[in-house]
Amino acid sequence: MSTQQDLFVRAQRCLVGGVNSPVRSFRAVGGSPVFVARGEGPYLFDVDNKRYLDYVCSWGAIALGHAHPGTIDVLHHALQQGFGFGAATEIELSLAEKIISVLPSIDCVRMTSSGTEAAMTALRLARGVTGRNKIIKFGGCYHGHADAVLVDAGSGALTCGVPSSAGIPTEVVQHTLVATFNDLDSVEQCFAAYPDDVAALIVEPVVGNMNLIAPQAGFLAGLRALCDQYGALLIFDEVMTGFRVGLQGAQGLYGITPDLTILGKVIGGGLPAAALGGRWAVMEHLAPLGSVYQAGTLSGNPIAMAAGLVALETVSRPGFYEHFTVQTTALTAGLHDIAQRLTVPLVAQAVGGMWGFVFSEEQHITCFDHVANSDVHRFRAFFHGMLARGVYLPPSPFEACFMTAAHHAQHIAATLNAVEDVLQEIVRDHV
Ligand code: PMP
Repeated sequence: MSTQQDLFVRAQRCLVGGVNSPVRSFRAVGGSPVFVARGEGPYLFDVDNKRYLDYVCSWGAIALGHAHPGTIDVLHHALQQGFGFGAATEIELSLAEKIISVLPSIDCVRMTSSGTEAAMTALRLARGVTGRNKIIKFGGCYHGHADAVLVDAGSGALTCGVPSSAGIPTEVVQHTLVATFNDLDSVEQCFAAYPDDVAALIVEPVVGNMNLIAPQAGFLAGLRALCDQYGALLIFDEVMTGFRVGLQGAQGLYGITPDLTILGKVIGGGLPAAALGGRWAVMEHLAPLGSVYQAGTLSGNPIAMAAGLVALETVSRPGFYEHFTVQTTALTAGLHDIAQRLTVPLVAQAVGGMWGFVFSEEQHITCFDHVANSDVHRFRAFFHGMLARGVYLPPSPFEACFMTAAHHAQHIAATLNAVEDVLQEIVRDHV
């Protein structure tokens, strides 16, 4: 048995399912998970010292590459000062000021340790500010594991809260309405059903939790208009897209101003940090200024803030996102070409430093049903073929892929060579 398989046996004795977050368990693809020993630039090395080109990138949190030398230098210094105080520090101001300087929709920020907390707080704040109860979310969008948003009734114009996890009473999600991404009519129906009671609409402006789905032209603007019409707050969950699809996230890319923004992943530079931000008129309702309560022992942890600041300063350099776009476009175009040549139905798309692919006969992947109806069996075979050739993709067909600044043309070329091999194998074996 490899060290890795040994570790998985051991892991299953001490961790639920052998992991600390479900998708890491490889349940969607079968086999035992990769135990990572270290990362360097675009690569991961497992405990058997096998090298992989990494396209998970800590689920998007790593933007600069693994063990980024500039971040290590800053962290060395930060660690000498102590690891956390639960008190005000200057470094948290620096990160907040950096976020505010880049995102015009944000006047002020509250840091949290996870995207889940930030999303939960944004919803509580929206309800506190508006005095309304309902929230609208989209089937297939993920906003962390707080009760109110752990609802995904799939498609259907208007579906009232059916929890997607055990342990959530129906009463708790009765105020959660589920609409269909890229379908403004389904959103309009939710608003029309409760015209005076929708506090907020929350959306991943580019969805990364049902593979990658970009908004169709006019969709985000339509959401903005409906929120204005019905007096609800528009919340952009930019945990994935923030500082990844462009310097100003999806809001900059598509030119839409949300009322509240949720950030995570890149803003912690790979360490645990997330945030919500918005206009003063909304944010001032949070404690200690206002009556909406939120707190966190580790919020604004100085080590995470220091790593996040290096990340945001680096991504602000000219050309950073052009590099992302060149690499992800080359990769998805190459993937598409190879698949077409081998007559494997596949749709691949990219937005900045996010990309995705689906084995599907559809022309365009625009909503959850398209991904749900894709060839999951073929994805599994592809995933394992790529893994065997040293390419680490997300171990589920419902996740987006990422990239770092350390991924260059030679890595894309190596990845496409592996793609060619694996797709040939899939065609030959009729998978
Ligand atoms: N929102 C989005 C869009 C996410 O992708 C995630 C996590 N992948 C979250 C919220 C939750 O963040 P966390 O895992 O840090 O709680």
